[in-house]
Amino acid sequence: MKGFNSKLVHGDKNFRDKNKDKFGALRTPIYDCAAFEYDSSEEIADAFEGKVCGHAYTRISNPTVAELESRIAYISGAESVVCLSSGMAAISNAVISLCAAGDNIITSKYLFGNTYSLFKNTIASFGIEARFVDLTNPEEIKNNIDEKTRAIFLENITNPHLIIFDMEKISTIADENDLILIVDNTLLTNYIFDCKKFGVDIEVISNTKIISGGGTSVGGSIIAYKSDKWAKNPKLNLNIKEGEVTFMKSYRKEIYKNFGSCLSPQNAYYQILGLETMSLRIDKNSGNALKVAKFLETEEKVKSVNYTGLTNNKYHSLTKKQFKGNGGSLLTFELGSKEECYKFMNELSMIRRSTNLCENKTLIIHPYSTIFCEYSEDKKKELEISDKMLRLSLGIEDACDIIEDIKKALTVL
Ligand SMILES: *Cc1c(COP(=O)(O)O)cnc(C)c1O
Repeated sequence: MKGFNSKLVHGDKNFRDKNKDKFGALRTPIYDCAAFEYDSSEEIADAFEGKVCGHAYTRISNPTVAELESRIAYISGAESVVCLSSGMAAISNAVISLCAAGDNIITSKYLFGNTYSLFKNTIASFGIEARFVDLTNPEEIKNNIDEKTRAIFLENITNPHLIIFDMEKISTIADENDLILIVDNTLLTNYIFDCKKFGVDIEVISNTKIISGGGTSVGGSIIAYKSDKWAKNPKLNLNIKEGEVTFMKSYRKEIYKNFGSCLSPQNAYYQILGLETMSLRIDKNSGNALKVAKFLETEEKVKSVNYTGLTNNKYHSLTKKQFKGNGGSLLTFELGSKEECYKFMNELSMIRRSTNLCENKTLIIHPYSTIFCEYSEDKKKELEISDKMLRLSLGIEDACDIIEDIKKALTVL
């Protein structure tokens, strides 16, 4: 199989053959159990030691979760994948696996809110420093790297600013300094941004978003690519006494088991189901985003529109180079004031007021008063969160209905 869609629907045949269902079920059953039994003490010992391919306890591995992991590895060309209880679990587990107290990572201030808080507060309390730098400035990145820097972390299209970084430049700096490049690919997924092609070592995604699609469940993935940097990371080396050091071998041995952030089999099932139709939905989500962005540009009451799929957008050339010209499903736009934003939102009838994104349903939110509500005025200014800005996540409805709803709501301003 060559095509992305065929791979999405069927998964890896080798994996399927090895894990054939006893009854021939065409869909992997939900193994919703905590533990697995063995016929002999030798067999259960081998399973625990990982000598045989078997499952012992769901916090460590589970057949339904393994199916999802195999599916994601197959479409991304990754070395290994682990699925976790949330996108935040994927991000926190990945960083903690690579850094010990005294180490640091390079990142930007343009991050998903909880990731920012994780870096600013949580890992800092473990003695791990996040250096918030301007990732569009190669010199600034280089100047912040020292012998304790372990990774560069970024979101490939930031939310809600929709900034795109030059992956080629950043990936070169990461390679030159043996830094592990971690990219949060939640907003685009591998269908739009091919991490492997751009030298990403670890991709993290929130399965909650595009993969789940219907907002059915929370989950996340750490997707590790083949890399010669694993053996150069001191923390990863600690866990591997013999044989090749890989991110996943080291991670599964310690952090994965000890942090207990496993994905539930039920949620893995929902996410396998969602994964199979992911590309169809992305095409529809982003097609709608482009249509709505173009419409918003023609409306006088809309002060500005930010969508990287528009040819006049600052990041359009990078969108073409890195994301196959696809701007994804998120856009933002500005109205005259915060009051206008509230009034407009309250007037919408089909579009729903909610925080999720990359969903089947079109969702709108006022980031200033919700996602960023815990931050002071000054902090919001520093993070460039305007109270005039609305974020729209386009769903898979008919574009004419989305536009009609917006048009009607704009008339009250
Ligand atoms: C939602 C999101 C996360 C966190 O994922 P959860 O599944 O909610 O924990 C991380 N990064 C980005 C870009 C997100 O949109």
